[in-house]
Amino acid sequence: MEHIVQALYDEQMEQFRQHFLKLHPYDQAKFYIKQSPEVRKRMYEYLSPAEMAEIFDHLDIEEEEYKTYLSEMDPLFVAQMLGHMYADNAADILSELDKKEVANYLTIMDNEAAKDIQGLLHYKEYTAGSIMTTEYIAIHANQTVRSAMQILKKEAAHAETIYYIYVVNEQHQLVGVLSLRELLTSDDDAMIADMMNDRVVSVFVDEDQEEVARKMQNYNFLSLPVVDANNHLLGIITVDDIVDVISEEATDDYSKLAGVPDVDIQYNP
Ligand code: ATP
Ligand code: MG
Repeated sequence: MEHIVQALYDEQMEQFRQHFLKLHPYDQAKFYIKQSPEVRKRMYEYLSPAEMAEIFDHLDIEEEEYKTYLSEMDPLFVAQMLGHMYADNAADILSELDKKEVANYLTIMDNEAAKDIQGLLHYKEYTAGSIMTTEYIAIHANQTVRSAMQILKKEAAHAETIYYIYVVNEQHQLVGVLSLRELLTSDDDAMIADMMNDRVVSVFVDEDQEEVARKMQNYNFLSLPVVDANNHLLGIITVDDIVDVISEEATDDYSKLAGVPDVDIQYNP
């Protein structure tokens, strides 16, 4: 840690990068929020938007703090950073800003990323749609395992999870699912249609996030697909996002309980 701080103070960019980028992004994020505004500004100079995006994907801070940090950066840098983040995380941050600012960032952002984020901004708070991400892997039933593996290889870097691969039809309706383990242990020439699980558990985009958490716990999946009323696949919710929901709801319920004066907690032996 001292190396990193020292390199920043000495304006040694290469040295800073060499040590800092070895840290896990969570530790990078912890480091980042401990710094003064001046030091943070130097970090924006020494790191790329993509590298900053990794840090922001691991931040868990109050909305006011996000606003402070973003205001320290150049707007183009902010837009590029948000574009490199997972779409659900970027949408979370943008949903805290005012509409004009959001529009501004989306205009200068890479088109593809802006479209994903814009789509997510429409969903109501506390619904499946508001916590899902659009970075999932989808394949078709009439493919072989070999060609599915090629898709997986190409898209893995950008997917939030590669553990489940969802199968869609021509209309992008959800028709099946298989796990990475199932794919890896199958014959290359096997057809996806023959091996996929076609009784897929999914959640509706308008469903309450608490309900999603319950399903995730009951079925023990690492992610759940999100569909619209016509079974079109819209996104996925991964278990790490559900962990946040569960701890949020627990705090909420606890404060509600604490705020109600006439609650009579009885002990029944
Ligand atoms: P197993 O534990 O059976 O060895 P695995 O370790 O490959 O499987 P798990 O995460 O345990 O994967 O998933 C169990 C099974 O559930 C897999 O067959 C997977 O394809 C399937 N599955 C994953 N998501 C869904 C879903 N949303 N609906 C139905 N089945 C699903
Ligand atoms: Mg398993």
